[in-house]
Amino acid sequence: MKHMPETAGPERLSKVHGLATNLGAPHQAYPIKMSNALTILNQTFGYPVFRGEQEAIIGHIASGGDALVLMPTGGGKSLCFQIPALLRDGVGIVVSPLIALMQNQVDQLKQLGVRADFLNSTQLIAESERVQRDVLAGKIDLLYVAPERLLTPSFLQLMERMTIALFAIDEAHCVSQWGHDFRPEYLQLSILHERFPNVPRIALTATADQLTRGEMIERLKLEDARIFISSFDRPNIRYTVVEKQDARQQLLNFLREEHPGDAGIIYCLSRKKVDETAHWLKGQGIAALPYHAGMDSESRRRNQDKFLRDDGIIMVATIAFGMGIDKPDVRFVAHLDLPKSVEGYYQETGRAGRDGQPANAWMTYGLADVVQLSRMIEQSDADEAHKRVERHKLDAMLGFCETVTCRRQILLQYFGEAGSACGNCDTCINPPLTWDGSLAAQQALSTVYRTGQRFGAGHLIDVLLGKITDRMKSLGHDRLKTFGLGKDFDDKRWRSVFRQLVATGLLRVDVTGYGALLLNETSRPVLRGEQTVRFRQEVEVEKKKTAKTRSKVPLDLPQDSHELLEALRTLRRKLAEQHGVPSFVIFHDSTLMQLVMQRPRNRAQLAEISGIGAQKLERYGAALLDVLKAHAA
Ligand code: ADP
Ligand code: ZN
Repeated sequence: MKHMPETAGPERLSKVHGLATNLGAPHQAYPIKMSNALTILNQTFGYPVFRGEQEAIIGHIASGGDALVLMPTGGGKSLCFQIPALLRDGVGIVVSPLIALMQNQVDQLKQLGVRADFLNSTQLIAESERVQRDVLAGKIDLLYVAPERLLTPSFLQLMERMTIALFAIDEAHCVSQWGHDFRPEYLQLSILHERFPNVPRIALTATADQLTRGEMIERLKLEDARIFISSFDRPNIRYTVVEKQDARQQLLNFLREEHPGDAGIIYCLSRKKVDETAHWLKGQGIAALPYHAGMDSESRRRNQDKFLRDDGIIMVATIAFGMGIDKPDVRFVAHLDLPKSVEGYYQETGRAGRDGQPANAWMTYGLADVVQLSRMIEQSDADEAHKRVERHKLDAMLGFCETVTCRRQILLQYFGEAGSACGNCDTCINPPLTWDGSLAAQQALSTVYRTGQRFGAGHLIDVLLGKITDRMKSLGHDRLKTFGLGKDFDDKRWRSVFRQLVATGLLRVDVTGYGALLLNETSRPVLRGEQTVRFRQEVEVEKKKTAKTRSKVPLDLPQDSHELLEALRTLRRKLAEQHGVPSFVIFHDSTLMQLVMQRPRNRAQLAEISGIGAQKLERYGAALLDVLKAHAA
């Protein structure tokens, strides 16, 4: 129990009282006593019980096994290596690709009284020498290291001289050459196993598709590792996809109605769009900042810091932003462009609501998105095999967007999980109707055929609506058989038809030119009227369809609860400034809320609150009790 802060009082044990039957008796499969792990969870981290697979994973690693851990973002992966590192002799080495966030993670651990530090290229030489001395002197239990540093000959030599508790390979999907997080240095991490065959390894990721899983096992030589797959469901996130009309205005309405003052992330496909959107939102009085790989690293770091530290900042970003961001109170993730894959989408949206409170995943989506992504795939330099994978991924993403059944079911099915309708997505709450679109499809496809497969949806819709323009006349398209045939529908309805024809593969995008729509084998039976087609009917987005996410004091609490919550927030902000860390590192919102609801009156009662461990009790207990007393009357 080398790490245990001196201050842990006996009252802490009462938190585990309900589990007393598990104490003492070692788990059959593990020589390690789980009561130790539980004690660390209670006393150091201040949490009463393990979540999901945490306990099994910790037991497995602590007793020397290797593991591959697949758990969604916010599932609680960090504890799975942090606790075994504290249970085992020596230092736990954590490989993390995110230099910019190491400091943050180490700060959080230090707040808990854990002896953690990091080594990366941002440090001065004197500082990194100090860390290395501390490691050799046994003064550090968790060491975060960038992969490029880990693989240097000098560090490999240094490791020969230490006792290593375990290797944790965080964001292990970075070995995948298919993914956008690929890091070449990750490919060399198998060296760890070759050099230190007796040190247990734990690889962790929130990316769970089969392809990536296989790559992680092969590249990291984890053939003998036990695989722990958690459910990927994130029940507190509400998924909503709206048909793209005026995307900016739709976004603004969403922000103003559902998320005033909330922190969130808005994803865009291009750097240019990130800059423009952030600028525009600022003009609308919204606290938005840009983030993309084209910005200099100083500005990126500054914006990231602001997002983490200040309350209610919205980050407008490309997918370069987000990995490893563990801000718990991100209340929404919005997509202004269609993501390239379900796994990317799921990882991005998973950054919302890590604290378990309600959160929204919201996306606008239209035909132009499908055209744009299809062209990006075909025009890339990738080989045919790679393109085929990308096309499949896009198709799965389109399936999600166009579904008339529960969106969560579609997402979970993608990760191989079955489930029933969730009741917390737009299609569950407001089930879309379908309509027989056989005739409309036939008319649309026929127009594609008659215009020579040379035009995009805009012109094709003009033909169907019978718009007489100079262009129409000069092309002679006003004399086509389908000219004006589609006047029963408006422009919006036809856009939806073409989008769904492309999304379901009945039309393809000509990616060599300007996105003309092409027929293919599957279009023929529809064109001939031999096959029926059903379309999703676009639902008018009702106001308040997304989740209410503001954390509110429940109505049945005493009158002064609001003031108490505000006073606690003010104290938290002051403490955060004093310690130079984000507020959530001091206490999560959920911890403050519990304080308001339970009103502890002494240290023993404070210790019962989830999120208050021994170190925080020691450091902040008195200040908390002062505020609570001032509001006791
Ligand atoms: P991941 O790395 O899987 O995305 P984290 O390790 O950052 O997730 O954990 C997500 C949040 O859940 C963190 O705020 C963490 O403190 C909290 N958490 C983890 N395990 C528990 C637990 N057993 N009880 C309560 N909170 C937990
Ligand atoms: Zn649902």
